Amino acid sequence: MSNRLNTYLSEKFYPLYKLTRNDLFNGLRPIEKSDGKSCSLVCPSCWGNDAFHYFGTASIRCNSCHQHTTLVSALCLLDEVTEQEAAKRLLESAGFASPPIVDITAEPHDKAETESKKSSAITTRWLLDQLRLWLKDNDDAIESLLSSGWEKELLFKAPIGYLPSSRAIQNVVTDRLPTSLYKSVRKIKNGIVVPWVLPNHDVFLWGYNDSLQQNQPSFDISIKPSSPCHLNHPVNLKSEWLLVVEDPILASLLLARRIPACAVGDESLSELSSKGLQGVKKSIFILAEADSVAVKNIQKYSPNAKVVEEVKPIAFGPYHGAYYRRFTKWHVSRFKKIATVVPNNVLSDEQIILMLSALVDAEMSFDDAVEVLEIKTGKRVTIAQVK
Ligand SMILES: [Zn+2]
Repeated sequence: MSNRLNTYLSEKFYPLYKLTRNDLFNGLRPIEKSDGKSCSLVCPSCWGNDAFHYFGTASIRCNSCHQHTTLVSALCLLDEVTEQEAAKRLLESAGFASPPIVDITAEPHDKAETESKKSSAITTRWLLDQLRLWLKDNDDAIESLLSSGWEKELLFKAPIGYLPSSRAIQNVVTDRLPTSLYKSVRKIKNGIVVPWVLPNHDVFLWGYNDSLQQNQPSFDISIKPSSPCHLNHPVNLKSEWLLVVEDPILASLLLARRIPACAVGDESLSELSSKGLQGVKKSIFILAEADSVAVKNIQKYSPNAKVVEEVKPIAFGPYHGAYYRRFTKWHVSRFKKIATVVPNNVLSDEQIILMLSALVDAEMSFDDAVEVLEIKTGKRVTIAQVK
């Protein structure tokens, strides 16, 4: 195993690791001592049952054969896998994604490439793996996404994750974080995040500090991405059309559904990020309020981009138009957009009811439809008890 991986394990991983917290080493029948600091277990070397391990250290020691076996070697023997794979399983069992340094030593390509990879501590692939593991581990975060229209089977296919604390990423990597990543994690602290890739191996996290339901997105305003979030996601590369939305979380959800999508962000971001659409030779569809700043910004660089009309079914992609329309409300509530309110007396009750039923027909939930109507017309529909 590479020295760098060994160093990584002893510096970042072993001090935090408690062997009895999961079932990875059950084959060695570990029994925790009453002081909670160590355990007795079967020796992976001689298979005698007189070995012990102190939590936070790298090895298992045996009173009988006097061998010191590292946890990685023990796992190699138990699972019959390579050291590389054992290290990966060990890290993942404790919520650590394998650090990018593992990949560098595993596949030494030509020198120039290795050098350039070494200069960037963080790869998008690694970052996403790590953010997903943290999401998997956080029931509240998963719950907040499910209540915002996500489905469980999509959660771990999407480019989305969870940041447990501002220090979390720094705690699991040995190198310095790229500038924008460093700035953005300080701003977000903890919450649902989407990695937004920037040029020069940098990436920043766009997302929510704390509640996805109650808070506005948090990001460092000094970071100015020059192209949309997820523009170069693999799902987008081969398709002939692209759906542009404002909210990166929505774009992530659509990508998990294999729908080509990217996000330009809200007003402060879309002015610059829309530039990245210039020269994109695909049919571009915009899923946003027709009068929004985002639409104006997108059409500045992509004049033929079509705004998907409200309620009306649209014919592209693998789903019926109603599927896409369900999400129009998403960015309204996410960004707490202040919509122009039509004065009360302009629309009759019948017209309001017609609009409501059109929204419900388009598979929007009743409560969501009521909320959208209230934003758009200033009228709130309520159900009265029939007596
Ligand atoms: Zn032994």
